[in-house]
Amino acid sequence: MENVYKEDHAKALIKLYPDIAEELVRRTYTSRLIGANPNLVLPGGGNASLKLKQKNVLGEDQEILFVKGSGVELATIEPADFLALDLAYLRKFRRLEKIEPAEMENQLQICILHPSASIPSVESLLHAFLPHRYVDHTQADSILILTNQPDSRNLIRDALGPRVAVLPYTLPGLSRAQEVAAHYDKNPDLKAIVIANHGIITFGEDAQSSYTRMIDCVNRANAFIARRIRGKPLATPQAGVTSSLRSKTMAAIFAQFIRGICAHENPAGRLCRFRVEFRNTPELLNASFSKDALSMCASGALTPGHATRTKNKYVYIDSIPDQVEALGAMLNREVDKFVKEYHRYYQEHSKISSLDRQELDPYPRVFLVKGLGLYTLGFCHQEAKLAADISEHTIRAKLQAGALGRYIPASDSHAFNMEYWSHRQKKISDRHLPPLQSQIAIITGGGGAIGLGIADRLLASGAAVVLSDIDESRLQQVYSNLKNRYPEGEIELIPCNVTDYHSVVAAYNETSRRLGGIDIVVPNAGIAYVDTIEDLEPQKLDQVIAVNLKGTFNTIKAAIPVFRRQGTRGNVIVISSKNVFDPGAAFGAYSASKAGAHQIAKIAALELAPLGVRVNMVNPDAVFGDEKISSKLWDLIGPDRMKSRGLDFKGLKAYYRNRNLLKVEVKAEHVGNAVVFLASDLTPTTGASLPVDGGIPAAFPR
Ligand SMILES: [Zn+2]
Repeated sequence: MENVYKEDHAKALIKLYPDIAEELVRRTYTSRLIGANPNLVLPGGGNASLKLKQKNVLGEDQEILFVKGSGVELATIEPADFLALDLAYLRKFRRLEKIEPAEMENQLQICILHPSASIPSVESLLHAFLPHRYVDHTQADSILILTNQPDSRNLIRDALGPRVAVLPYTLPGLSRAQEVAAHYDKNPDLKAIVIANHGIITFGEDAQSSYTRMIDCVNRANAFIARRIRGKPLATPQAGVTSSLRSKTMAAIFAQFIRGICAHENPAGRLCRFRVEFRNTPELLNASFSKDALSMCASGALTPGHATRTKNKYVYIDSIPDQVEALGAMLNREVDKFVKEYHRYYQEHSKISSLDRQELDPYPRVFLVKGLGLYTLGFCHQEAKLAADISEHTIRAKLQAGALGRYIPASDSHAFNMEYWSHRQKKISDRHLPPLQSQIAIITGGGGAIGLGIADRLLASGAAVVLSDIDESRLQQVYSNLKNRYPEGEIELIPCNVTDYHSVVAAYNETSRRLGGIDIVVPNAGIAYVDTIEDLEPQKLDQVIAVNLKGTFNTIKAAIPVFRRQGTRGNVIVISSKNVFDPGAAFGAYSASKAGAHQIAKIAALELAPLGVRVNMVNPDAVFGDEKISSKLWDLIGPDRMKSRGLDFKGLKAYYRNRNLLKVEVKAEHVGNAVVFLASDLTPTTGASLPVDGGIPAAFPR
């Protein structure tokens, strides 16, 4: 890997922050260089620090440790993201014999000199105890490949030379920091310290030399590994296996099954669903065919920290039955096996460690599937993605480690202690989840004003949203309205033609491959045509029926197998119309097709109740678009409506506002709020209609 330090880049950054100490800007610069390299640190990983003397408000010199806060990304770190800690006080902890983890956490909070949103990592002590001005810490793959071997001490010495020490793995905290500092004191010519099964620490008096030492060490490790494994195949294919890829459909069905099987109620009685990340790079597919695939999945994480993201073991699936039902039964058995093994691991190690802990959910996070690829699970997109990043790196590293010698993971008890560390438990119990967290919604007719309003409200409630529409340019328009307000990975655009059943099935499969499955279906695609029965061309009626009625039917029908495979209930919310109860003249095609869709929804409520799937209808009246996006429907019928009532657009809006009891303009976000209410399972309601029309007596449901 290239040493990408450029003094002119550092200088340019210093210019950008004229009010910030140059040392801290240099600290920011090399931290970003390290963070940008996934072979050094994965998202959220790594740490970096700087020691600096600054004047406090009294004009006294104060020694400060600037250290990355927990959860901050090195790749995008800002000078302000470094926590300023009271270094003189922290240094005194070197004399302390013992401290409870919770008290250590308090003490670290007390040391914060500037208010900050993030909290100091417990590894701040390690940075404080080393004497160097700059300290860098990464979990480089190549270092872990060398430490996770029977003869790691010699391997590291051969690879990195005598000025790099290897210390055995210990839990992060006071004693690890004391050991590292004591080792350095005895060997002051060290240029780096490796902690087995954990990572590497480099240091220096300036940012460049600490960074350069990191790159040098990792490059030496890489070169050493490359020399040793040259000519050895990394993934020995199993005999008799062809690499023909399973269909894209199977990849989707697999995701739906594992998502459903691993969903579970948490201690508060809430159904926790997963997001799924699916990857099928040639490298992963190759690994899935390796004869070592099973042992790779069973052998334990590269570092105990990874176990908190991926669990310590992965599930390996070595064949996919042709029958979908058989696949479900097989996956149930495999997950059940994993769960039993996890209970055993929890019981054994909680006894040994005598920690008073609450068992975490026992479900796997990583599946490697022969011929399909890698699936990872997380309670949100970031978690699933991070688990995929980690397991992808882990699989690559384990293949190299296997070729190098024999891969030895950190012990189960180290993984357990990391997984059940008090800090982690606190983070978990602090979770406040939005009502639709990890649920996946698909909205047809997503390229219009109502689609935007529904998507916005569902996203705000924690759901991931797939916007589907036949018109891709309108989808882009809606997306550009949403993308800056919601995290990356929460919105997907999947075009589909609702009049074609196969197109809907394909869209659902694509949804499952990208997100994992479907929980909330919102049939919303609709068109209208204004004409009296006398003048209405029969094929115009066909067109309107194809979208409004058959489209709703297709959208519900295609979701049923997905609901069945997941087995985690679900919601269908049909966007019906005020016209179903209170039709208007010259609006027969629309009103009749919507009435048909409404009736289909009621039938679905009857048929899907055994699956726990609720089907409800929202009946809006006259939702106009706004400056963000127009309503496709009103683009079509507005001019006719204005003409027939002799009004301009503003007048038409006023007309609709004035005809309801509450004298309000019905907005897309109102429809979105109704969808969220029905999707939230707050009331045991199915087969019901919820008017969102300001109150129109003629359209009261009955
Ligand atoms: Zn560390």
